[in-house]
Amino acid sequence: MNQGNDLFDPASLIVAHDETHAFEAVVPPLVQTSLFTFSSYDEMVSTYRGEKVRPVYTRGLNPTVRMFEEMLAKLEGAEDALGFASGMSAISSTVLSFVSPGDRIVAVRHVYPDAFRLFGTFMKRMNVEVVYVDGRDEAAVEKAMPGAKLFYMESPTSWVMEAHDVGALAAIGKRHGAVTVIDNSWASPVFQQPISLGVDLVVHSASKYLGGHSDVVSGVVAGSKAMIDRIRAETYPYLGGKMSPFDAWLLIRGLRTLPLRMRAHQASALDIASRLQALDVVEEVCHPGLANRLPPGLNGTSGLFSFIFKEGVDVRAFADRLKLFKLGVSWGGHESLIVPGEVVLEQKAQPNSAHTFGISARSVRLHVGLEGTEALWNDLEPAIKAASAV
Ligand SMILES: *Cc1c(COP(=O)(O)O)cnc(C)c1O
Repeated sequence: MNQGNDLFDPASLIVAHDETHAFEAVVPPLVQTSLFTFSSYDEMVSTYRGEKVRPVYTRGLNPTVRMFEEMLAKLEGAEDALGFASGMSAISSTVLSFVSPGDRIVAVRHVYPDAFRLFGTFMKRMNVEVVYVDGRDEAAVEKAMPGAKLFYMESPTSWVMEAHDVGALAAIGKRHGAVTVIDNSWASPVFQQPISLGVDLVVHSASKYLGGHSDVVSGVVAGSKAMIDRIRAETYPYLGGKMSPFDAWLLIRGLRTLPLRMRAHQASALDIASRLQALDVVEEVCHPGLANRLPPGLNGTSGLFSFIFKEGVDVRAFADRLKLFKLGVSWGGHESLIVPGEVVLEQKAQPNSAHTFGISARSVRLHVGLEGTEALWNDLEPAIKAASAV
């Protein structure tokens, strides 16, 4: 992000007063309505003819959702954005707008488990083949790309946090004519702006950092006007995974503190990651911020990472002793969470990416929330000690 003058930083623009103030209110109204009426026959018919653009029905266009979309587009440095009922809805609607039966997708390994399941079930049935590559191995990416219709990225990846040179990968995809898509939920636009790195479309689970308070499930895609228009025309209205106005309203509130929250998650998680790394009983900490340097284009790190215990630590005892870190999926909210790798390996839903890509049964994923580093460490350290003694 621009460090020199905060007022030109897109993050500052979404924190500052909005340009439009209905009722002179600081907070935009929640337009919680399913439909909008027309004042005359003429207005209705010109809207139907497409001569006039205005809200008709909330599945198509809603002013509160639109305001969130415009803020997110600004943050990502994109021309336009489109809000969805979930991150998965944004991902499926985006991918389905650009591939047809017989096409091939190249995806980085360790993608989000439900994206992996979408590719391995529904997309397979649609006769779309998905091949996986190690995103850190640019030669392998280059080799897989000829003929690919779409290149699906996520960086850092789920669970093991493999971090990629997104600009270099986007250039490979582009050279081979593939539509490039990235899941940017982990870094958020505060720490990574993939459009500026040459990626076509950025998807988010807005349920994570964009919302930031664990009270919303929603998603969004950002990109060029032409590509967003294609999604808006081809899949968005008919698959119908529309973001609700109330969720958009909560997301607008969440975005105001996004830059501040991201910096707090970053500081606390990095501190805890290095303390874990110093422990005898920890084999490895998977956190991109512990490497000598971050890949180009990644300007900071968030609160989500994993680590692997050495043999002999009782993960169940560790998990059950924690008080501030609760067992729970998702992440990106104010609160700290853990997910044990053992549990993920036992997940019934198939195909299970944890088996396909391989994760350690001794690994634990942490989301470091906003409770404060010392309080969190005072929760973790005794639990690790107790679980190592048994
Ligand atoms: C949670 C998540 C998703 C899916 O988002 P939903 O809002 O739960 O549908 C996609 N990508 C990543 C990286 C996620 O963590």
